[in-house]
Amino acid sequence: MELHDKLEIKFRLDVNQKRALNKLKLFSVSDLLFHFPIRYSDISEVKRVVDLIPGDMATVYGKISKLKTKKGFRSKIPMAEGQIEDLSGKIKITWFNQAYLAKMLHDGENVKLTGKVTQGKNGIYLANPEFEKMLDMPIDSHDTLFRNPTLLREGLGEGLSYPIYAETRGITSKWFYHAIEKILREKSLDNLEDYIPADILKKYSLPTLKTALIWIHKPKNKNDAESARKRFAFEEVFCIQLERQHDKFEYRKNKSFQIRPEKKDVQDFLERFPFKPTNSQSKSIETILADMTKNFPMSRLLEGDVGSGKTAVAATASYVLLKDNLQTAYMAPTEILANQHFYSFIQYFTHTGIQIGLITGSGCKKFPSKINPKEATIISRAQLLKWVANGQIPILIGTHALIQKTVKFKNLALVVIDEQHRFGTAQRRKLVRKDGVAPHLLSMTATPIPRTLALTIYGDLDLSLLDEMPAGRKQIITEIITPNKRLETYEKIRQELKNGRQLYVICPRIFEPDPEKELALNVKSAVEEAKRLKKEIFREYEIGVLHSKMSKEKKEEVMQEFTEGKIHILCATSVVEVGVNVPNATVIIIEGAERFGLAQLHQLRGRVIRSTHQAYCYIFAEAKSEKTIARLKALKTAKNGFELAELDLTLRGAGELGGTKQWGITDLGMEAIKNIKMVEAARTEAIRLIEEDPELIKYPLLKAKVKSKAGEFHFE
Ligand code: ADP
Ligand code: MG
Repeated sequence: MELHDKLEIKFRLDVNQKRALNKLKLFSVSDLLFHFPIRYSDISEVKRVVDLIPGDMATVYGKISKLKTKKGFRSKIPMAEGQIEDLSGKIKITWFNQAYLAKMLHDGENVKLTGKVTQGKNGIYLANPEFEKMLDMPIDSHDTLFRNPTLLREGLGEGLSYPIYAETRGITSKWFYHAIEKILREKSLDNLEDYIPADILKKYSLPTLKTALIWIHKPKNKNDAESARKRFAFEEVFCIQLERQHDKFEYRKNKSFQIRPEKKDVQDFLERFPFKPTNSQSKSIETILADMTKNFPMSRLLEGDVGSGKTAVAATASYVLLKDNLQTAYMAPTEILANQHFYSFIQYFTHTGIQIGLITGSGCKKFPSKINPKEATIISRAQLLKWVANGQIPILIGTHALIQKTVKFKNLALVVIDEQHRFGTAQRRKLVRKDGVAPHLLSMTATPIPRTLALTIYGDLDLSLLDEMPAGRKQIITEIITPNKRLETYEKIRQELKNGRQLYVICPRIFEPDPEKELALNVKSAVEEAKRLKKEIFREYEIGVLHSKMSKEKKEEVMQEFTEGKIHILCATSVVEVGVNVPNATVIIIEGAERFGLAQLHQLRGRVIRSTHQAYCYIFAEAKSEKTIARLKALKTAKNGFELAELDLTLRGAGELGGTKQWGITDLGMEAIKNIKMVEAARTEAIRLIEEDPELIKYPLLKAKVKSKAGEFHFE
């Protein structure tokens, strides 16, 4: 079998299997080999048939017979049946829904079966066992197995676990197991070359590609499986790093506007702030200004919690461009935020007399208005674009409409990107002018992620951290509430409501589960909780509901009513973006807190941070476990979201951070994120390789691998 062979040629596939493989994007033999097990089945014990007890996961060795397929009596599902016999006795086997298995085995063959011993109406049987043919092995006695050291060494004596693959409708884990077994048996890997350079594998004691593929699918023991997973986890981070480092290398090849900021001038600008910058703000400003004095463009990420003062840093970076008539584009993720930034910038820049523009999908504005120099005014898009093109407007704020082709700048020297996950190669290319001059890039984020993850996904950026909050800021008083304190907490909150404040209640679910279809989990839903609070607790207040299944109009209506104070209590789910800040909402309850990561809880409570009144966050936990409560208590002591993200990673693992979807990293790759040494190794090696050989000319296999993994990878 060749690695590029199409699966439909090498395997007999029915319509459902074809559809399932398509859905999983598995087309070739090679694709299948890189479809890794998600875990390995529980280690089961090798047992004699007479010793089997219902409920056990057990492995038996014996001869198989009486194989046949039939349809379930009532259900009509196709099933396969048979029996296995060893020296001690025999037991029935049933495979539900997997009739094809009966065709893969033959009466009289010696096999190893691992499955659950199940009590049926007519005695016990082995349900849906995994099987392996024992070709050359004389399995005549259970005892020989334990006396035979070779078998034990090979793991057979332990009934070594089977790989379990993610299933989808139409295809089972077992199908993968047998298909991959066949590929490996046919020596398809013999000519496989490794794309990771051998010296790197050696340096970090990682198995070669061929070995790792065998070990990940058919490990002889736990260590082999772990080394294989380690290799693939390293490989994933390494490939991401190569792509990011190449990106960085490419962007740095451009020229930039070199800024020569004057200390005194910057000092004056900072002194106009109605506050003293924090140490980390000063440090970040210094680093950013130093970056901008270079003759290649800056690529920097500024990380800082909500409220840590990123806007002031960005404003200072924009300010130093003014005296050379250079321009800044400031991109926000939503219109609401673009508007907020527009007005913040007006505050920061009024004294300079410059013009500031705003461009969003729903219209354009300019400050100052000709008629009223203290106000902004609505202008036409055409007018705005004209003034941006001739340089009359040095600072333009907007949504991503901002970097579209129609928006032409005279001298764009700085692009600030607020809270966008990644501003990839393609988007950056658009910013490079024909004469090879590219703007400095400043990305900003409040999403708390651990350092290892930041180093990986933002590998193309240099990092600056705002890790302290402005002095004098009122801390959110955070309490962990166990069930027995629930009622007294509601009374405390009632006091705040009486003083005219408002309350958010965050619930893990939208609706109650349908008891017909789902287990009734003891989890609050926004819809039901709103009804319950109205009926039992806060009768005198208006309660609204907000969740993602509502129409956009309805959502806006509810948000508007909450902003205006017509609704006092808002029950929402965590996924709902409560976009607008309602400064009067000073209390937040988070229900079912044990289901959330610490960093996520921190972000949720950030919704009440902007108010001038004292803010409160009540974390309602149902669990009584000491460990859970101890974990949640970190919310009272941690200094910032990044610290909490690190804690999530150490306490609950990378799964807590959300995988593939959010960061474009597989679950296996996320395993590497736990390991700072591995991430640093992958980064160091990637930087070295790109420095030595930016286009990876000496490493064509590696280049192809990186290209296939990264959608927007641009090697020349
Ligand atoms: P971020 O964008 O990081 O969430 P902002 O830049 O919007 O935060 O700042 C939040 C608020 O804090 C703003 O009202 C801002 O004026 C104020 N602020 C910023 N830096 C400081 C500081 N060093 N001391 C006091 N207040 C500050
Ligand atoms: Mg901000």
